[in-house]
Amino acid sequence: MPVPKEKLSRSRRDRRRANHDKVVKPNLSTCTRCGAFKLSHRACGSCGYYRDRKVLSVGDAEA
Ligand SMILES: [Zn+2]
Repeated sequence: MPVPKEKLSRSRRDRRRANHDKVVKPNLSTCTRCGAFKLSHRACGSCGYYRDRKVLSVGDAEA
């Protein structure tokens, strides 16, 4: 069984654990169809389009 060569210092241990629940900024881009903010590589939440194709039904039941 592998054993660490040296004990991790408090600062190194705490630095590793501090990485766990940090706040990450979402990669926002604007929808090319309606201009709303959306996550990149995701369908737009307000018009339901992803790369000029309707993939979600948003709001009124159309198609
Ligand atoms: Zn949109």
